[in-house]
Amino acid sequence: MSDRQSYDAIIIGAGIIGANLGFEMSKAGYKTLNIDKLPAAGYGSTANSCAIVRTHYSTWAGVAMAYEGFHYWKDWKNYLEVEDERGVAGFVQCGGVFVGNDERYSKTVLPLFDEIGIPYEVWDTEQLTERLPGIDTGDHSPPKRPDDDAFWDEPAKQITSAVHTPIAGYITDPQLATHNLQRAAEAKGGEFVFNAEVAGIRIEGGRVGGVDLVDGTSIEAPIVINVAGPHSFVINEMAGVADSMRIKTRALRHEVHHVPSPRGMDFEKDGMLVGDDDLGTYFRPEVGNNILLGSQDPECDPQVWVQNPDEFDRNITEDQWRTQVLRLARRLPSLGIPSEKKGVVDLYDVSDDWIPIYDKTDLDGFYVAIGTSGNQFKNSHIAAYCMVQLIDAVEAGHDHDSDPVKVKMLYTGLELDMGVFSRNREINEASSFSVLG
Ligand SMILES: Cc1cc2nc3c(=O)[nH]c(=O)nc-3n(C[C@H](O)[C@H](O)[C@H](O)COP(=O)(O)OP(=O)(O)OC[C@H]3O[C@@H](n4cnc5c(N)ncnc54)[C@H](O)[C@@H]3O)c2cc1C
Repeated sequence: MSDRQSYDAIIIGAGIIGANLGFEMSKAGYKTLNIDKLPAAGYGSTANSCAIVRTHYSTWAGVAMAYEGFHYWKDWKNYLEVEDERGVAGFVQCGGVFVGNDERYSKTVLPLFDEIGIPYEVWDTEQLTERLPGIDTGDHSPPKRPDDDAFWDEPAKQITSAVHTPIAGYITDPQLATHNLQRAAEAKGGEFVFNAEVAGIRIEGGRVGGVDLVDGTSIEAPIVINVAGPHSFVINEMAGVADSMRIKTRALRHEVHHVPSPRGMDFEKDGMLVGDDDLGTYFRPEVGNNILLGSQDPECDPQVWVQNPDEFDRNITEDQWRTQVLRLARRLPSLGIPSEKKGVVDLYDVSDDWIPIYDKTDLDGFYVAIGTSGNQFKNSHIAAYCMVQLIDAVEAGHDHDSDPVKVKMLYTGLELDMGVFSRNREINEASSFSVLG
């Protein structure tokens, strides 16, 4: 029995990707309903995203998509086509410099940058010091933890090359960006319901028929899309499609730390995004002259896979805090070590090869935009745009599995083969198998 009106499509989740999909689908003429169990858009893992925009992925599709995504952020206000009463999220294009792992850059990333046309410069030690005063240019690789004596060794060599790209930056408020998308979707007729938890996927006549909510209501729709972030595997199990997907998703706990800029340094104004493969960190300027510090999850760090995404430790741990802050202090030696631990803890929705799954499933009408692996905030719009093309084609009878949909992207004109994001792909060995994608 249906207690509500029917929709063309139900989108489970109203994070940055779900809300963006609501906007793109409404724009394309679908009557959509985003359902989220939390009280507002972008309150799930999106809220704690570092919201970094950068293009240094390890695959052609990864770099191309991120480059396309950069153009959306530059054009954000126009893209939304609507005013949000709360204002628009800002894109701070502070640029980014990436140090360490020269082989990855010279053999993989830079050839892709050249092919796609990403602007960059290779800096030597002197340029790095000039552009980022206060930086220590010691080569500390490979990443270690402070309980390893080698962590404290003086570096035997210096970083001799670093890749700078001016088109990197970050979004000031990921939750606001999601709210912007909610408003944009609503202006096109999309609807959102909050504090509503999906408990089951309805299947009728062999295809998806809608969803059942925890409160007992049912909502009908011939299309349902799983955009549930770290809960993606739970929803796939509800739909009975988990076993038929070659690539799986799991939830990985991730800590992000906040520290004040070193004394005498205005990192918020003069700093930039730094990807530090040597120490296994990344950091970026944060409001209030702070630094936001994340981990690249190097091999020496324990990985905490979470069985139940509703129950995980949201407290910063002393061990990871100390490790990360000491790593940063190696790169910025004038950093004071704060006594108060500050930061956030949330979950990545990680796929087996750290590349997202944007695809149909074996259940007709049931689609997935999942496995975003800690690196798809920046790509929400292009992911949503591509999902609409894919859904349009499949619903019109196209066999996407044997002849993957190809999407010409709007800003760059590059063509993306959606087969790269198939649920049934072979593990993509070109991936970094990390948050770098
Ligand atoms: C700590 C951290 C740092 C990150 N940093 C970056 C970065 O710098 N750059 C970058 O590009 N990416 C980054 N990411 C990744 C990026 O934030 C995610 O890829 C993106 O936010 C995922 O959006 P989403 O909409 O898929 O998921 P979410 O934002 O998690 O939204 C999913 C929604 O589904 C809802 N939901 C789940 N189950 C149900 C149910 N049964 N019924 C109803 N609703 C349900 C949840 O309540 C949630 O709101 C980071 C992620 C984390 C966790």
